[in-house]
Formats: sequence, C-alpha cells, structure tokens
Amino acid sequence: MSVDKFALRNLKDKRVLVMGLGLFGGGAGVARFLVNHGAQVTVTDLKGEEDLQESLEALKGLPIRYRLGGHKEEDFKDADMIVVNPAVPRESRFLEIARKAEVVLETEMNLFFKLCPARIIGITGTNGKSTVTALVGSILKEFHPGTWVGGNIGRSLLEDVEKIGTGDLVVLELSSFQLEALGEIKKSPQVAVVSNLSPNHLDRHKTIENYISAKKNILRFQGPEDFAILNRDDAEVKGWKGECKSQVIFISTEEELQEGIYLHRTNAGQGGETGQILVRLKDKEEVLDVMKDFRLPGRHNLENALLAVAAAYILEAKEEHIRAGLCEFKGLEHRLEPVAEIGGVRYYNDSIATTPEATIAALAALSGPIILIAGGYDKGLSFEGLAERIRERVKACVLLGQTALKIKMAIGQARESTPEIKEASSLAEAVQVARLMAVPGDTVLLSPASASYDMFRNFAERGRQFKELVTADAAD
Ligand code: ADP
Repeated sequence: MSVDKFALRNLKDKRVLVMGLGLFGGGAGVARFLVNHGAQVTVTDLKGEEDLQESLEALKGLPIRYRLGGHKEEDFKDADMIVVNPAVPRESRFLEIARKAEVVLETEMNLFFKLCPARIIGITGTNGKSTVTALVGSILKEFHPGTWVGGNIGRSLLEDVEKIGTGDLVVLELSSFQLEALGEIKKSPQVAVVSNLSPNHLDRHKTIENYISAKKNILRFQGPEDFAILNRDDAEVKGWKGECKSQVIFISTEEELQEGIYLHRTNAGQGGETGQILVRLKDKEEVLDVMKDFRLPGRHNLENALLAVAAAYILEAKEEHIRAGLCEFKGLEHRLEPVAEIGGVRYYNDSIATTPEATIAALAALSGPIILIAGGYDKGLSFEGLAERIRERVKACVLLGQTALKIKMAIGQARESTPEIKEASSLAEAVQVARLMAVPGDTVLLSPASASYDMFRNFAERGRQFKELVTADAAD
C-alpha cells in the first residue's frame, strides 16, 4: 500500500500499527489522523499507561487498540503499515520482523511531507530549533494568514493536512531522527534553516558522522528553486554550502558579509547588545531596523533571530512584519524562562538545555553571579568545554543525576580556582541547597546540560517541578 495525495482513502480498513506513542504530540497526532481516515489502529509503546498519560488522554474515546508496556512480535507481522516513532532505532528487532514480513514502514513526518501541498520551511540544528521555529511563525503570521507551525516543537500537523492550502506556509521544527527518516523518501523542505551543530544524540546515532548526515537531509534533496539558510558563525554549518544545490543565504552576528544577512552591532537597545540587520543579496540591499524590541536574552538568541529574519525575508516579509513578529515573541517555556525573583535572587528555568552547548549559551546570556543546577541522563557527551565556562562564570554548582560525577570530574581538572560544588539526590534538594547558598544579586539557573530521563519523564516535567519548587519555597 502507499499513501500519497490522491490515496488517503487507501487507509480505510487498513491495519496500521503506531510504534511509539511518546509524549511530544507526534504519536497522538498520527493515531488520530489514521482513525479519522478509517484505519484500524493499534498503538504500541515500551512505556506503560502511567508514563503515557497525557497522550492517552488526548486519544480518549477513539477506537484504538493498545499494546503498552512492551511490543508483541505478531503486531509487526500482521500490519499493513507501521508508523514508526522517529526515536526508535532503525536496527530495532521489531522493525526487522516488519521488514521481513514486507510491511510498509512510515513516520508521521514522512506522511506529512508526502501529503502537504504547501511550501515547507524546515528548521534544524543542535540548539535553537524551537526558538527559531516559533520566531519564524511569529513573523509570518504578521502578514500571511495561512501560516502553520508544528513538528518537533510539539504539535503534529498531519491531522490538519487537508486544511492546508497550496498557498499556505508551513513552518516545521525537524529533529535529527525525523530528518534521518525523511532521507528515506528523498524529500527536503523548500526552505531549510540550520542553526548550529555540535555532538548530540550519540547514544542513538552512534557516530557524529551519522548525526551530521541525518541533519544534512534537510538540504540534501533541495533543488535550485529552494533556499538553504545557514549560520556562518557555526564552524560546521558554514561548510555545508558546498553540498547545497539550492540558493544559500548565510547569516552572521559576527562578520560583515559581502553577501548574506548580518547584524550590524550597536548597543542602542535597553536590553544589552542589539543592532540593525543588513541584507545584502544579489538583487537586494536593505537595512532592517527591527531589533529594538526583541526581548530574548543572549547572543545565541541574536543568532536565532537572524535565522528567522532571513527565512521570513525570502518569503517576502516586510520590515514592519519582521519588527512586529520579533517584538510579539516573548520566549518559550523552559528556555531561559524567568521564574521568580525571591529575596533579590532571580530564578531561571532552562530545563530544555539538554546539551553542554545549550548550557554554555545560557551562562553567556545571564549577568551577575550564577548558581548552576546541572546534571541528568547521560547521552555520552563531553563536558570539557562546559567545565571551562563553569569555572569562568559560575559561583557554585549543584549537581544531580547520572552525569553529576562526569561534570564534577570535568570541572575538577582545573588549575585555577573552581566553583563550590555540591551534590543533590533530587531536584527538591538541589533547589534547597541553591537557595541556601544564594545571596541577593545572584541568579539560580536550572540548565542541566543533560537529558532528563534518569529522573523525570521528560524535560517539561523537570522544568515544571523546578518552577513549583521555587515558587513553593517562596510561599514558605
Ligand atoms: P531546541 O529546540 O533545538 O532544543 P530551543 O530553541 O528549544 O532549541 O532552545 C533550547 C536551549 O538551547 C535554550 O534554552 C538555550 O539555552 C539553548 N540555545 C537556544 N538557541 C541556541 C543557539 N543558537 N546556540 C546555542 N544554544 C542555544
């Protein structure tokens, strides 16, 4: 069987297995889509009912069969199609069984790409994906009513695919796992945006080469009509130009570009460093005075803003749309999110920072003495670079989770003075320890540089717990 624009009716009465429901919207979205098109849907997940609560709640009342807390071999032989969660490793023995039985394998994102009639703006990178995605959406919505935002940011657009018109614009955050699968159908978005690249998800991709190769699928199948927006400030990403068959637009917050879109720095804004954006493209030169009301802190967010501006600009956003879209956007939950100021101490929730680079960016974005709460699930990343920044920038560290010892050892290798290091066995204890150490003027920052799965269901649960702990402390 195949699913394409003209053959959605092919799904009627087909036995479709959704492998991996997850908690990020993709699994629930695809299950609903399949039910709506008359498929007989079974959902299977290694996780049990309790861990999948939110997604199960979102599917309540639909005619779906569940196999939770493990997979059953027969489900993989008896299906007409399996929609595989992109986080499932390709070498999974259950997928082997399905391949032998010649069952069609799909992913939610591959189905969307096959069915979507509109132009797609795809955004990837190790860090900054969600922020850039939301920023592009925020600008496009200022002038283009048919703008859709979804993907890895937490909303499946598959269910909406029949409402999407050919003139609409679809902004999608794409993870390395989703891109790996997209390579199988040889499709790339018409506009590809790449923020940066550093080692990540090596537990799943095995090598950095595999990770980079998956990410490159975002531009690998583009043609000359398409655009690739690349961050020239990133040593790896700037080298991708040679492989592009599309039109490349570089952005930079550091260099004046002969051709590209870059930041001409001034300190005119009240919030610190800012500037005007200069556009220098073959057929256009323009100064965009759009940054004055951009509120997100840190240099990394200037990069994110430039990437979003470049994408919106080639889609014909005007200066006033860009200015309004940037000003409108107040930041996303769990991304350097201000939580409270208690007794002169500021608390920030950066639970989404699951890589050392993301924590480095957060440390650079904040001013004043920092007490850093870090550590979590071990994805096999190195903490050497982060340790150096911690030594320069952090007053005290409270470490928890699987990576606590690795981070401590990395910091410990310093010759110069090192920050005070404490360990905690829970987030509650970490918040308490940080609170006791903090004096007015300090900032307590949860930015774990590690994933959350050792102690939490996901980064969102970790961030919400942190916020509750901080505000509960305030109420004491
Ligand atoms: P992603 O979707 O790729 O995880 P987010 O936009 O959700 O990225 O941001 C996650 C965290 O990564 C932020 O809290 C911030 O600390 C860090 N970050 C965001 N943008 C960048 C960037 N351009 N470079 C480095 N780190 C960044």
